[in-house]
Amino acid sequence: MPRISTMLVKTSDVPAMSNHRVLDGKAIAQRMFEHLRRELSTLTTGRLVPQLGVLCFETPASRVYVEAQQKVAASLGIQAFPKRCPMTVSQQQVEDTIQEWNRDPTIHGIFVHQPMPPQIDPQRVSALIDPRKDIEGIHPQNSARRFFARARIGSCTALAVMELIEATGQGVAGKEAVVVGHSEIVGRPVSMLLLDKLATTTVCHVGTDQAGRLEDHVRRADILVVAVGRPQLIKGAWIKPGAIVIDVGINVVGGRVVGDVEFEAAHTRAAFITPVPGGVGPVTVMMVMKNTIEAFKLQRVA
Ligand code: NAP
Repeated sequence: MPRISTMLVKTSDVPAMSNHRVLDGKAIAQRMFEHLRRELSTLTTGRLVPQLGVLCFETPASRVYVEAQQKVAASLGIQAFPKRCPMTVSQQQVEDTIQEWNRDPTIHGIFVHQPMPPQIDPQRVSALIDPRKDIEGIHPQNSARRFFARARIGSCTALAVMELIEATGQGVAGKEAVVVGHSEIVGRPVSMLLLDKLATTTVCHVGTDQAGRLEDHVRRADILVVAVGRPQLIKGAWIKPGAIVIDVGINVVGGRVVGDVEFEAAHTRAAFITPVPGGVGPVTVMMVMKNTIEAFKLQRVA
C-alpha cells in the first residue's frame, strides 16, 4: 500500500522549508493502481474477471465521472458496464436493473451513482442490492457491519478519506476529529471509521451551522473532514495550525471546480491538506476498483 513520502507535494507558493503539504490524491491513486493490478493478476484466470454494473443518471457531471471510472477499470482489467438512465427514470426501472444484476453471476459489483433523482427512494435502492455486490456498503446489512467495525466493504469515499489521512503518517488515536456533513455515503461512514481508529470524533451538520457553532468546532480540529457541497463554507482562518484537512466537497464556481474549504488561506495553516480537484476524487475512484475486487473475492469463495 502507498507510503507517505512519495505522496506529498509542496505547492509552488509554499516556502521550501514550510511544513504545509498538499496531499497528492493522484499520486496515492497511482500507487493503489499498481498494487491492485498486481493483486488482480494473481486472482484472475482466463475469462473470469471482476465485472461492475454502474447505474448512473444523465447529468454532465456523472457522464464525466463514469467515463473516468470506466477508463481506470479497463486499464486494471475490470469490466465496467454503465447503464445511463434519464433523470425521469422510474423507481421500477431502477429496481429492475438492480434485480437483473443481482441475478447475474458474472456481475460482481453494483455501484449506484448519488445523488439519485428526487423520484427515486435511495433507501429502497440500497436495500435491494445484493449485500455481497454492494461496493458502496449502503445495504442495511453492510451498514450494520460498519457500525460494529466489521465491514469488509465500505463507502468508497469514506475509505478514500482514511487512506489520505493514513498517507500523512500521523496517528489518529486521541486526536480531535471533526467531520462536517452527515450524509449516509460520506459523513456518517467517515465518522465511524475515525471512531474505529480511536479519534475523539465530532460530527457537524446544518444544525451546527444554524446554531453558529461550526467555527468553534472547526477551530479545535486536529483532523478536519468536510463533505457538504458548499464552496468556501470553511474559512481558512478557522483551521487549527498543524491540522490535517480533507476536503471532500466538489463545487463548480465560475467554471472552476473547488472544494468546501478556502484552500489558499487554509493551506498556510494546515500541516496537510487535499486540493480540489486532485485530492479525494482520484483516491475514491481507486476505492471503487478495490471494493469491486473485494466483492469478486467474496463471491469466488461463496
Ligand atoms: P449530501 O448528501 O448533500 O450531504 C451534505 C451534508 O452536508 C448533509 O449532511 C448536510 O446536512 C450537510 N450540510 C448542509 N449544509 C450545511 C452547512 N451549512 N453546514 C454544515 N453542514 C451542512 O452530500 P454528500 O453526498 O455527502 O457529498 C458532499 C460533497 O462531497 C458534495 O460536494 C459531493 O459532490 C462531494 N463528494 C465528493 C466525492 C469525491 O470522491 N471527491 C464523493 C462523494 C461526494 P443536512 O442533511 O442536515 O442538511
